[in-house]
Amino acid sequence: MSANYYEILEVEKTATKEEIKSAFRKKAIKLHPDVNKAPDAEEKFKELGKAYEVLMDDEKRAMYDQYGEEGLAGAGYAQQGPFDFGFGGLDEIFASFFGDMGGFSSRRVDPNAPQRGSDLSYQLEIDFEEAIFGAEKEIPLEHLEPCKMCSGSGVESGYKKETCTTCKGSGHIKKVSRTILGNITQIVPCPNCSGTGQMNPHPCKKCKGSGQSMAKKTISIKIPQGIDSGMKMRVSQEGDCGKNGGPSGDLFVFIRIKPHKIFQRNNINLFINYPISLAQAALGDEVDIPLPGDRTTKLKIPSGIQDGDTLKIKGEGVPYLNNPSQKGDIFVKIKLLTPKKISQEEEKLYRRLLEIEKQSKEKQSESLLSKFKEAISR
Ligand SMILES: [Zn+2]
Ligand SMILES: [Zn+2]
Repeated sequence: MSANYYEILEVEKTATKEEIKSAFRKKAIKLHPDVNKAPDAEEKFKELGKAYEVLMDDEKRAMYDQYGEEGLAGAGYAQQGPFDFGFGGLDEIFASFFGDMGGFSSRRVDPNAPQRGSDLSYQLEIDFEEAIFGAEKEIPLEHLEPCKMCSGSGVESGYKKETCTTCKGSGHIKKVSRTILGNITQIVPCPNCSGTGQMNPHPCKKCKGSGQSMAKKTISIKIPQGIDSGMKMRVSQEGDCGKNGGPSGDLFVFIRIKPHKIFQRNNINLFINYPISLAQAALGDEVDIPLPGDRTTKLKIPSGIQDGDTLKIKGEGVPYLNNPSQKGDIFVKIKLLTPKKISQEEEKLYRRLLEIEKQSKEKQSESLLSKFKEAISR
């Protein structure tokens, strides 16, 4: 497609922006698809918009003058770029000249076409262990369903919808708008029947003609093992019902997990703080560590462990969502507890311990000192 932009707009190669603008106005008014019903009007109107956009932009125009359309593509004004602005951009240009025309008729939504119902969302709070072991949860739901009284027709029983007298059933009317360039005849949706072409003089008393009514129900959903906070589950078709035979929307259940008293969770791993005594740290020990689901496991604490060290229990964390037989790990962070109160016997032992420590320190410093002296006397 190599139609010349100057020819499309019917202007000289030397045309000023003012001349281009005025040429565009004249042609646009003839080719606008709301006005011109020729089958190629839409295509021509698009071409016109493209020519106008390029010639009004100094940089693009210079590129076009020198290298034509290929030059524009080469300069990065490719078809996907700002150059190919489709109908949205055209509508904007057109509106800037003539005011909002309500969009092209081809883009209007047919009120009689099937429409999908709205999606709904629900926030579900579950326990820490439900997320690990999975659960079955009930969700109270309120959504639009086809009205039971009129089976979704919106019409009281014994009556029918009637053809709209304003538009004679077509759903649209002609509207003449005055613009600075004269009158434009537009086809707009019929205001009397909202574009449906039909009237409903005897609407259903329950749904007032909408054909839909709010319904409450409870649904049960299966929470998979390993689900995490912030994840969402889709329950298909449990959103609002559609219109004109369109499908229902979906229900999205957003998961939030209540915090646990002792476990912290990060994805598939669990974290726990475990307090031990000075004696346990010095001598080592074997202790019971709680696991999810009221279980425990034995953990060996090595002698000489330090405050803040972390021990790992493999494969006892959170199940993988897509493979629950595999699990993450539990990380046990050691917290060294200094006794706040001690018994008499403990005090005796601690004093003895302190004496031993002092003696060994003295010995150490003596031996250091003697080594130092030796070194100097040589
Ligand atoms: Zn009508
Ligand atoms: Zn009804």
